[in-house]
Amino acid sequence: MSGHEEGEPKELAEFRAEVKAWIAANKPAKPAFKLPLSFLEVESKEQFDYLREWQRKVYDAGYLGYDVPKEYGGQGVDRARFRVVGQELARSRAPFMVNLIALQWAGPTIMTYGTEEQKKAYLQGILSAEEIWCQGFSEPGSGSDLASLQTRAVKVDGGYRVTGHKVWTTLAHFAKYMILMARTDPAASKYSGISYFLFPMETEGVDIQPLVKLSGEGGFNQIVFDDAFMPESALLGEEGQGWNIAMTTLMFERGANEGVGRERAAGFVERINTLTEVAKRQKRGGKPVSEDPVFRDRIVRAWIEAQAMALAAARSEAPQLNADRPLALPLMNKLVMSEWAQHVAELGCEMLGPEGALWVGDDHAPDGGDWPRAFMNSFGMTIGGGTSEILRNIIGERVLGLPKSK
Ligand SMILES: Cc1cc2nc3c(=O)[nH]c(=O)nc-3n(C[C@H](O)[C@H](O)[C@H](O)COP(=O)(O)OP(=O)(O)OC[C@H]3O[C@@H](n4cnc5c(N)ncnc54)[C@H](O)[C@@H]3O)c2cc1C
Repeated sequence: MSGHEEGEPKELAEFRAEVKAWIAANKPAKPAFKLPLSFLEVESKEQFDYLREWQRKVYDAGYLGYDVPKEYGGQGVDRARFRVVGQELARSRAPFMVNLIALQWAGPTIMTYGTEEQKKAYLQGILSAEEIWCQGFSEPGSGSDLASLQTRAVKVDGGYRVTGHKVWTTLAHFAKYMILMARTDPAASKYSGISYFLFPMETEGVDIQPLVKLSGEGGFNQIVFDDAFMPESALLGEEGQGWNIAMTTLMFERGANEGVGRERAAGFVERINTLTEVAKRQKRGGKPVSEDPVFRDRIVRAWIEAQAMALAAARSEAPQLNADRPLALPLMNKLVMSEWAQHVAELGCEMLGPEGALWVGDDHAPDGGDWPRAFMNSFGMTIGGGTSEILRNIIGERVLGLPKSK
């Protein structure tokens, strides 16, 4: 797949050319420090500042916000342009948008359930990266079984007081707001006692403790809330409606926002291009890896899968094709894409042979050690937003109509 889209209307093709030229002229130079591979591993202030500056620049140029109406700071809803910008950013290997949790799942949830005031208060800061968001769903005892969460929000004069413990909270150390699930009615059933909040992080009683991953990188945190206050206006939707709202957020996280799937698919095709570069460059037994029939076969297979993901993403933009099973594509996309990314990172390491074990910081590590780093980090994608096992369960039960698992 090239940058050119077959059958694209002239006006859109011109817009694509304009975006492409702008990215080529404005994409920031590689910094001297190591950049994170994804929004899940933003650790240091210098990484954060570099990425935030880039998002702000894209927004100021008028290319972010084609899924948000103008009155809330967006460009006006234009799904075709939204998709084009996402694709061209991915294809140019430009840095990712650091406020991704906000852009791809908190923002669309606020658009769906927010009041006029909430939309006016939050959406522009999300687009410009002025206000970073994190997601406070998981707890030490409540990950896959999210509805068992124990963090409490108790109604007090003018607002709520939060006490509890969240974990694996990506970007919390830079966040101004959190989409927070908390129990407001412990006497109600597991699901109907939960409410959904837009919680201001810069308040007393919030202790953010960084956690380190298997790869040695940071990026997520655990958070202890001790009687932390939030105003009444932080409630999204109605009290007790939190479970349903959270399910909407999870669908956006899994790629339900129209156009996001194709952006991700464009990134995967680009990933195959980097893999091919390694195959041509790397020698095994005196010959380039690209001449080894087994590796060739595996690369082509990964490429075909990337094309299939791109087609599935395109299909998800035609609701009439999915009316019978609306949940199927976002669930399937998240499952397939996260496992595919893991296989490709592993394939990259295997193509490098013993050098594929050399880690970041080793002068001899090919591509700065990014292949084993990507492999280690790829496990997170198959866990966050619903593990592969849980997604298979949900697809089995709700899409294929299999009997419920015990
Ligand atoms: C990189 C990363 C970033 C994250 N970022 C965030 C974030 O920003 N905010 C946030 O709220 N959370 C975040 N998470 C947490 C993530 O959502 C949870 O880790 C995930 O939901 C799994 O929960 P758990 O870790 O408690 O594992 P558990 O639920 O304890 O699961 C452990 C294992 O048991 C399996 N399992 C559990 N139940 C079943 C079942 N019924 N059937 C079959 N298998 C089952 C799971 O698949 C898994 O393999 C992040 C996680 C990672 C890895």
